Amino acid sequence: MAQESYETLDYDIIVIGAGGAGLRAAVEAAENTGLKVAVICKSLLGKAHTVMAEGGVAASFGNLDAPDGWETHFYDTMRSGHFINNYRMVEIFSKEATDRVLELEYWGAIFDRTKEGRIMQRPFGAHTFRRLCHIGDHTGLELIRTMQYKAIHSGPDIFHEVTMTKLLVHNGRVAGAFGYFRDDGHFVLFRARAVVMATGGWGKVFKVTSNSWESTGDGAALAFRAGADLMDMEMVQFHPTGMVWPPGVRGLLVTEGVRGEGGLLRNSEGERFMKTYDPERMELSSRDVVARAIFREALAGRGSPHGGAWLDISHKGPEYVKAKLPGMYQQFMTLADLDITKEAFEVGPTCHYTMGGLRVDPETCATNLPGLYAAGEVACGLHGANRLGGNSLSDLLVFGRRAGMGALQYVQGGTELAPVDEAELQQEMDRVLAPFRREKGVNPYHLHEQLQEVMTNHAGIRRSGEILQEGLDQILNLKEQAQQLSIQGSRTYNPGWHAVFDVQNMLLLCEGIVRSALERKESRGAHWRVDFPDEMPEWQKINFVESYRDGEISLRTEPVGQMPENLAKLFTLGKAPGLVNAETASS
Ligand SMILES: Cc1cc2nc3c(=O)[nH]c(=O)nc-3n(C[C@H](O)[C@H](O)[C@H](O)COP(=O)(O)OP(=O)(O)OC[C@H]3O[C@@H](n4cnc5c(N)ncnc54)[C@H](O)[C@@H]3O)c2cc1C
Repeated sequence: MAQESYETLDYDIIVIGAGGAGLRAAVEAAENTGLKVAVICKSLLGKAHTVMAEGGVAASFGNLDAPDGWETHFYDTMRSGHFINNYRMVEIFSKEATDRVLELEYWGAIFDRTKEGRIMQRPFGAHTFRRLCHIGDHTGLELIRTMQYKAIHSGPDIFHEVTMTKLLVHNGRVAGAFGYFRDDGHFVLFRARAVVMATGGWGKVFKVTSNSWESTGDGAALAFRAGADLMDMEMVQFHPTGMVWPPGVRGLLVTEGVRGEGGLLRNSEGERFMKTYDPERMELSSRDVVARAIFREALAGRGSPHGGAWLDISHKGPEYVKAKLPGMYQQFMTLADLDITKEAFEVGPTCHYTMGGLRVDPETCATNLPGLYAAGEVACGLHGANRLGGNSLSDLLVFGRRAGMGALQYVQGGTELAPVDEAELQQEMDRVLAPFRREKGVNPYHLHEQLQEVMTNHAGIRRSGEILQEGLDQILNLKEQAQQLSIQGSRTYNPGWHAVFDVQNMLLLCEGIVRSALERKESRGAHWRVDFPDEMPEWQKINFVESYRDGEISLRTEPVGQMPENLAKLFTLGKAPGLVNAETASS
């Protein structure tokens, strides 16, 4: 076989991913550092999944509720994560989120404002105070617009429509990444002294999902194959309110902002059923609780016509709804021919976020693979067993910056470019081109559909040992089939070709999800096991960590770090620290 050729580009740091986390990391690595930095993404700049974020970015300014502060944000995040979060990550996050949001504003983001001119904050599920800074219901768009502008002017080179297929390692440390340009299919080697992985999550493994086509978990899979550990893969968030009708848009997100702005959930009997599941917080309970409640109502025969629940914000009046939720108003008008200012609409759980991911050091975002850093949805530790709404966007800013800083310090420590193994590259090109050579084989789209079916039926919102085991067997079978993936056409803009690597990556991560879910024999946050319905204190002390060696996944437990006294005592007050402080001040 003729030797394939590739282009070689040398950088100090490459950032794979141009969502909020990648762009924030790139700014830190490139601005005034004199280093050569590249940002690489598989879609166009400005199209990353982050652009879809709606409801807001969580930061405890206390602009509307003065008693808010980092301690209460810390408290809410740990509680919602059911205490398997990395407490140090949560501490850093809660303390730094406000600075990162102000920085975003300084760089040009235009937030909605209070009458006094402060950043407006809205309530969101399981946040004690009004905490989500927002721009209507298109916060992600403004975040990306701002970060993109800032990043471009910080100096990195930007590569659009490039799919990375392999992370390269030399002598146990990262040496760069390899992939191809999607427009003409030519191969490219990025040699780099450090790599920041910021490729987002893998919500596309489920049939009903709010996620964009990009969310196929590439970065997590590439890093895992290269030797980085994954953690808490069983933790997948199902957002309670996705569209359920019409079928073509099933899963599309209905922002939590609807409930934040006063939307009410009802079952087919007109009952506000959340009073059964969380009478205190009602519609603003945490996502895991509300998603399960809707699922259970439908199971009990009290669902809406298409298997969800009714959400109603019409009592707020057209002016208010259109001002606060313009995107939602448009979304339902355009896609469902329905006016949410006048009538209730159907919603149901949709796969939304992956809490598991690459295990990172809280201070630097370093993975266990020297030279590899990770931030954003691809990383794990901040959100524990259930992410709070709004905490992802602030995660991207806080840990995107720290990952950029971590990579910068690593490179400034004197690490040189590592050599790459020519034979390994030829082997990779051979692997990547193999689907063209198989005349008859498995269609990658078909395989993806089957995988989504398996994941939905066997590792979805409701799990048990038996159905998970069946799911694992089916995934292993699909993995076999994935050896025979076949596509037609040329290397020029060939979506079928891209789909091959997407599904291979998703298969690996799905195996990781199911193996971890089988081992966690309890219910915690998003992980609901009907055969182990209770949350067990002994399981609160462990994270599940997975490694990949010689084609096999191995799983071990690691102790969750023990909070120091000053943090632990925040949970002994009987309620959120901010509420206690407010009571003390008024008495
Ligand atoms: C509809 C919706 C609404 C949301 N609303 C909110 C909200 O209001 N508040 C909140 O906090 N969170 C929200 N979230 C969650 C949040 O948007 C995401 O968790 C977050 O944007 C992920 O950002 P990221 O930077 O980690 O990755 P992404 O934004 O997913 O970016 C990933 C990047 O990696 C690139 N990439 C992937 N694979 C490859 C590859 N193989 N080669 C090269 N490049 C690659 C992609 O091209 C992309 O540039 C929402 C999510 C959805 C789906």
